[in-house]
Amino acid sequence: MNNYKIETKCIQSGYQPKNGEPRVLPIYQSTTFKYDSSEQMGRLFDLEEAGYFYTRLQNPTNDCVAAKICDLEGGAAAMLTSSGQAANFYAILNIAKEGDHILCASALYGGTYNLFAHTIKQMGIDATFIDPDCSEEELNAAFKENTKAVFGETIANPALVILDLEKFAKAAHNHGVPFVVDNTFATPIHCRPFEWGADIVTHSTTKYMDGHATSVGGAIVDSGNFDWDAYSEKFPGLTTPDETYHGVIYTKQFGKGAYITKATTHLMRDLGSIPSPQNAFLLNIGLETLHLRVERHCENAQKVAEFLENHPKVAWVNYPGLKNDPYHALANKYTPKGTCGVLTFGIKGTKEDTVKVMDQLKLVGIATHVADARSCVLHPASHTHRQMSEEELKAAGVKPDLVRFSVGIENAEDIIADIDQALNAI
Ligand SMILES: *Cc1c(COP(=O)(O)O)cnc(C)c1O
Repeated sequence: MNNYKIETKCIQSGYQPKNGEPRVLPIYQSTTFKYDSSEQMGRLFDLEEAGYFYTRLQNPTNDCVAAKICDLEGGAAAMLTSSGQAANFYAILNIAKEGDHILCASALYGGTYNLFAHTIKQMGIDATFIDPDCSEEELNAAFKENTKAVFGETIANPALVILDLEKFAKAAHNHGVPFVVDNTFATPIHCRPFEWGADIVTHSTTKYMDGHATSVGGAIVDSGNFDWDAYSEKFPGLTTPDETYHGVIYTKQFGKGAYITKATTHLMRDLGSIPSPQNAFLLNIGLETLHLRVERHCENAQKVAEFLENHPKVAWVNYPGLKNDPYHALANKYTPKGTCGVLTFGIKGTKEDTVKVMDQLKLVGIATHVADARSCVLHPASHTHRQMSEEELKAAGVKPDLVRFSVGIENAEDIIADIDQALNAI
């Protein structure tokens, strides 16, 4: 669907019914698929023929939704996962193993930080976290012999750092490794990292893509641009025979689909973080209005940010859409149509005052979530990021008084009135 604009792709990509078929993507709520010949089933298992046989590996509903996200990002191949965590885990594990290293921009979602700093470390994969605003020299110096990927978030959750995608892509490519970008907050409506040199994009589809807080999910999209064969010694899993599939070489047999095919046939096969077709169906409905919702989220967030900036009880506001925000220039470059609906702020007062303001909100809920239709707040230091030390919080760009405000798509005046009454209670 490459000729259509992104708004059209949100609605039309992925599933194209043939004559007489259902207009809406059907839910293939089936774990398995029937064949008439055992020989054909054998060919499917050998990856000699494409087809469905077991939903842990592939399912038609899931694949249609993956194809839509692939098209929105301008990628070559994509897969869904059961969560954003699984997407980031698989994206790395597909190309790094025990003894390897990854380089990450330090402003990350708390769950991703834990995954990379602790969990994959226990599996023997080491991660270095670098200041996203580092110089090119510092960035280049952080690579090691065994570095296999560079990772960052387009718009960091919740630090709202806009990553200099070109700087990170250039450094990754100078060192012969792919650049993996978590594009959850920007969504492909506002930024398509492949256009700035990223090689692989991940998503927590739980956020704006789903948009209604119904389904946890994730996605991995491959641009198909990284030349694995040119760095074969670094990525033998993709470029040398896979004995578990009778010696198939992914880059030879699947070309631009090599990375996603390997992630499916190895990681999904063995680890199994597949979404239910029902959740993929709900995600697809969310994607149909992604372009409309993201626009309104940003419009509302801009109004709320400007209101908070001028409120006497507010100490500071972070929103890249504000002219004085340190990331305003990078936002204008990478997300010119707007950033996201999430902003952060701190109030003039104690931690108890912060909690009091949050408890005083009526329309805006306290929820461990961001980026859905309903406005909500969270205090990362006492909620999502509470496992992190003060030092780790600082590196992730999370101040102790930071309140994360996910601005929904209600009427902006109602949202502002609610926060105003809550602030005035202290
Ligand atoms: C929420 C989030 C994740 C994790 O996704 P889940 O769907 O909750 O597993 C990863 N990255 C970012 C940027 C997120 O906001």
